[in-house]
Amino acid sequence: MDFNLSGLTPGPAGESGEIPVKVLILGSGPAGLSAALYAARADLNPVVLSGMELGGQVSLTYAVENYPGFPEGVGGTELVELFQKQAERFGAKVEFDTAVEVDLSRRPFRVRTYNATYLVETLIVTTGATARHLNVPGEVELTGRGVSYCATCDGWFFKDKDVVVVGGGDSALEEGIFITRYARSVTIVHRRDTLRAGVILARRAETNPKIKFIWNSAVTEIIGNEAVRAVRLKDLVSGEECDQPTDGIFIFIGHTPNTQLFKGQLEMDSLGFLVTDNLTRTNVEGVFAAGEAADPHFRQVVTSAGMGAAAAMQAGRFLDEMSG
Ligand SMILES: Cc1cc2nc3c(=O)[nH]c(=O)nc-3n(C[C@H](O)[C@H](O)[C@H](O)COP(=O)(O)OP(=O)(O)OC[C@H]3O[C@@H](n4cnc5c(N)ncnc54)[C@H](O)[C@@H]3O)c2cc1C
Repeated sequence: MDFNLSGLTPGPAGESGEIPVKVLILGSGPAGLSAALYAARADLNPVVLSGMELGGQVSLTYAVENYPGFPEGVGGTELVELFQKQAERFGAKVEFDTAVEVDLSRRPFRVRTYNATYLVETLIVTTGATARHLNVPGEVELTGRGVSYCATCDGWFFKDKDVVVVGGGDSALEEGIFITRYARSVTIVHRRDTLRAGVILARRAETNPKIKFIWNSAVTEIIGNEAVRAVRLKDLVSGEECDQPTDGIFIFIGHTPNTQLFKGQLEMDSLGFLVTDNLTRTNVEGVFAAGEAADPHFRQVVTSAGMGAAAAMQAGRFLDEMSG
């Protein structure tokens, strides 16, 4: 994509004037761009702030095979480029900028970015979430080449292969069990000697013939050139290291929503996911939230896009009510 965010520094509020907008969308992932499409088609002239990751998380992935309408699959970057093009066709404006401060205490809301201050009638928050990383050598280089954070997305690529799953909570076990549909074996590596997951899920994993556990161990390196070949494990009791051959590694050690900006202003759960009602409304009238920033459960392109569309429809209804 043709953009460059380098060299931007936060400017003082209002430095280049205050820009009034009817609908401001924070985030350019599937939720943000779908919201932009719906708001643009409703003649609301939405402005999208891209954030540092134009296109969102899905732009990091090589192939998306579960977004409807693409029977042969589609590249992640290509898919969000199409989202953006479609929204822009109806008048949405995408700015390569990031919100750094918000004041939601009264309308119009104030959103300060690196370049400007927006005066906002309705705000749609689609700032997404970030999968927690192990931060070990090989992880970044091999992401998409055997390192994955999403079983629903990538499990299929590991038909009859051996994979390692890292984590000991509910999502590690749920996703590990899911991957056994495809993989020949799933080895769950956990830092402790007991699981953090619920009892029923733990029993289901422990009795699954394709799953085995390696306890008290941490992954210290992911090994491979073009594709993952092995993981280096450290026994946290004895300190010994060994290499475990594997075709892939799925990392489920938590997901952090990008919502710190709204702390003290928008209601969130204990993990930081924004709390909305079933109409995407937050606790502040005129502020809507969609996609992974408000969704710890589904975390897919199609679900995030659907929530984004719903949020834009709600924003339009809210503006109609306000104007009588
Ligand atoms: C490697 C990988 C592969 C995946 N593969 C698939 C797949 O095959 N199929 C599938 O359905 N799902 C897949 N997913 C999941 C999918 O990408 C997400 O569910 C989806 O992108 C969530 O969309 P979103 O719009 O809610 O948030 P995100 O995609 O996380 O986008 C968040 C956006 O908010 C912006 N932002 C953050 N903070 C600010 C701020 N302060 N101001 C302005 N903007 C901000 C970011 O720059 C970004 O544009 C994958 C995820 C990953 C990481």
